Amino acid sequence: EVVVNRIAAGEVIQRPANALKEMMENSLDAKSTSIHIVLKQGGMKLLQIQDNGTGVRKEDMEILCERFTTSKLEKFEDLNTVTTFGFRGEALASISHVAHVTITTRTGDSKCAYRGCYSDGKLKEPPKPCAGNVGTQITVEDLFYNILTRRKALKNASEEHAKSVDVVGRYAVHNCRVAFTVKKFGECNADVRTPQDSSHVDNIRSVYGVDVAKELLEVSHVDETLSFKLHGYISNANYSVRKFVFLLFINNRLVDSSAMKKAIDFVYQAYLPKNSHPFLYLSLEILPQNVDVNVHPTKHEVHFLHEDDIIGSIQKVIDTKLLGANT
Ligand code: ADP
Ligand code: MG
Repeated sequence: EVVVNRIAAGEVIQRPANALKEMMENSLDAKSTSIHIVLKQGGMKLLQIQDNGTGVRKEDMEILCERFTTSKLEKFEDLNTVTTFGFRGEALASISHVAHVTITTRTGDSKCAYRGCYSDGKLKEPPKPCAGNVGTQITVEDLFYNILTRRKALKNASEEHAKSVDVVGRYAVHNCRVAFTVKKFGECNADVRTPQDSSHVDNIRSVYGVDVAKELLEVSHVDETLSFKLHGYISNANYSVRKFVFLLFINNRLVDSSAMKKAIDFVYQAYLPKNSHPFLYLSLEILPQNVDVNVHPTKHEVHFLHEDDIIGSIQKVIDTKLLGANT
């Protein structure tokens, strides 16, 4: 059974950046206002995330890494609205099946923090009291120490590090009220550092550089017929990059949509020189029941109801914006 769990876990968590994304979302769900991340060997040796959120009660630490343990489902009916992206209570469990996990956590009403070590979904011994601030620190060590095939599928440390930094940068831009840092173990300089209560534009500047942020256009649109809301910042025609940078959040979750990407690139082709590409940060809110809940956790590719119409509508919003700014 342990092996089956391990293989299943290796499907959910494929690289340090996946694990990090899940843990950042947990920190955000716990209402953190600051999230600090440290990586050793691209997160393969060590991946540590410290937040100042609500923390976990000592009584709940026992089951924290068990499969389908979640504090985010009140009743069964919630399944439809809460599990927007298909799975719940699997992230920590999966991580604990493929790495050594240590969790130090303290709630606001506790006098001290508690620390527990987990393997294969289980707390190894009762949590021990220790010093610590309110919030949670999760340390993931030796990712995939027990699955050689997964370990072999990873890239080198610097590529894995870059992938993690990329994910943190995206979350930092979207969650601009929350402070983020990510750095290599033992270094002072952070690869991403954004302050608390910042703005999307300031964080785009700090993560993606001054050039991108120079002439960003704000897009904002409410579509009553298709029931969606769009907000974001997009580069103008005078900015172009070799690689399309597209930050897409749907209902606050970082996702990919190759259909939308293609459609947007098409709009920009009318404004940009050949072989150059735009930068876009878009936050889309759609009815939770319209998002495909059967998407596998690692397949960030998302599908939703009325996809073609919504994408068409977004194309129009962007086209109008670019036209207005360039005539
Ligand atoms: P899910 O997020 O789908 O509930 P996870 O496996 O990601 O499942 O997390 C399991 C549970 O652990 C969460 O529901 C939450 O109660 C708790 N948890 C995980 N990370 C944190 C954190 N950083 N702060 C507070 N609680 C956390
Ligand atoms: Mg989670």
